[in-house]
Amino acid sequence: MSLPQFQLLAVETTQEAVELLAKYAGKIRVLAGGTDLVPSMQQKLFEPEYVLDVRRIAELRGIRERPGSGVEIGALTTLTTIERSQILRRRYPVLTEAAATVASPILRNMGTIGGNICLDTRCLWYNQSLTWRRACGFCIKKDGDLCHVAPGGTKCWAAFSADTPPALLCLNAELEVVGPTGAHRLSLCDFYTGLGDDYRRLRSDELLTRVFLPEATADYRGVYRKLRIRGSIDYPLAGVAVALRRSNGHCADARIALTAVNPAPVLVKGATEALAGKVIDETVAERIGSLAAKTAKPLTTSALTPEYRREMIRVFTKRALLAAAQS
Ligand SMILES: Cc1cc2nc3c(=O)[nH]c(=O)nc-3n(C[C@H](O)[C@H](O)[C@H](O)COP(=O)(O)OP(=O)(O)OC[C@H]3O[C@@H](n4cnc5c(N)ncnc54)[C@H](O)[C@@H]3O)c2cc1C
Ligand code: SF4
Repeated sequence: MSLPQFQLLAVETTQEAVELLAKYAGKIRVLAGGTDLVPSMQQKLFEPEYVLDVRRIAELRGIRERPGSGVEIGALTTLTTIERSQILRRRYPVLTEAAATVASPILRNMGTIGGNICLDTRCLWYNQSLTWRRACGFCIKKDGDLCHVAPGGTKCWAAFSADTPPALLCLNAELEVVGPTGAHRLSLCDFYTGLGDDYRRLRSDELLTRVFLPEATADYRGVYRKLRIRGSIDYPLAGVAVALRRSNGHCADARIALTAVNPAPVLVKGATEALAGKVIDETVAERIGSLAAKTAKPLTTSALTPEYRREMIRVFTKRALLAAAQS
C-alpha cells in the first residue's frame, strides 16, 4: 500500500510547530513516532496535504521529577523510555506496566506517549485498505454515511484502543496543549469526547506537549491487564488499569479504568466509592469486576465478540485488583 502525496515539514521548536499548524489547519497532521499515522495514511484513512514532523523538538522529550508536585513527561518521550524509567516504575507502576504492553519492542522504541494518548479509535470496518472499505460502501467515520456496527444509527462507535490512557486516568493525569493563543492545561478525563469519530478535544492547530502526573497519586500500587489476540504485538481488545493506595490493610483510595471497550478510555463508575475502606478480598474484587463489566460497552468493532470482551473485563478487573492489593 502506497502513501498518498503530501509535503513533509520538519521543525525543531514548539513555537515553529504551532505556527505551521495554524497556517495549515485542517490540512496538516502531526507525526511523532509515526507508528500509527504512517499505516493509517497507507490505508488512506488520513490524506493530509502536509505532515509535520515534530521528532526534533528536544524540549518535548524526557521525564522530569518536579519535587512536591509529581512528574512531567514530554509528549515525545518514547514508550520504551517510559517503560524503563526508574522514577516511573517506582512511583507510578501502573503506567510502566501499561506502556510495556504496547505493540512490540521496536514499535515502543518509535512510538511516543503523546501519540498513544492521541491515537485514533479503531474498528474492524475502518482499519482496512481503501479497496476493502470501498467494497463495503464505506462508513460514517470515513467517506460514508452508515454504520456497519450499529446500522440505522448516526453515531460512530469505534473503540478507543490505546494502553497508556487508562493508566493515566487512574493517576488523575493532566495534559498541556499548545495552540495559537498559548498553552492550556486540561484533565485527561476531559480530553476525550466519547464519540468514535471526533474522539478527542484537540484542534488541528494544537499540539499536545506535556503530560503531568500529580504527586497525590505517586506511590499507588498499580496493575494493568490486557486482552489481545497476539501476545507479542497487538492492540488491546479489552484492557483494565488499577491504581490503589492502602492504609492498615484497607483501601484508602482506588481508581479503575478501562480501554478498548468504549469510544473513550473510561473510569469504572462507582468503583472508588465501593472500595473505600474495604479489605480487598475475593468477594470485593468480584463485585468490582461486575461494576467494570457494566461500565464496558463493547460492540462488534473487533474480531472478538462483545460478550467475550465484556466477560474478560470482569475477569481482568478482579485479577488486577487482587494483584494490586497483594503487591
Ligand atoms: C502492529 C501495531 C500494533 C500496535 N499495537 C498497539 C498496542 O498494543 N497498544 C497501543 O496503545 N497502540 C498500539 N499501536 C499503535 C501505536 O504504535 C502506539 O499507539 C503509539 O504510541 C503511537 O505513538 P506514535 O508516536 O507512533 O504516534 P503517531 O503515529 O505519530 O501519531 C498517532 C496520532 O496522534 C497524533 N499525534 C501524535 N503526537 C501528537 C502530539 N504531540 N500532538 C498532537 N497530535 C499528535 C498524530 O497526528 C496521529 O493522529 C500499534 C501499532 C501497530 C502498527
Ligand atoms: S463504528 Fe460504525 S461508523 Fe464507526 S468505524 Fe465502525 S462501522 Fe464505521
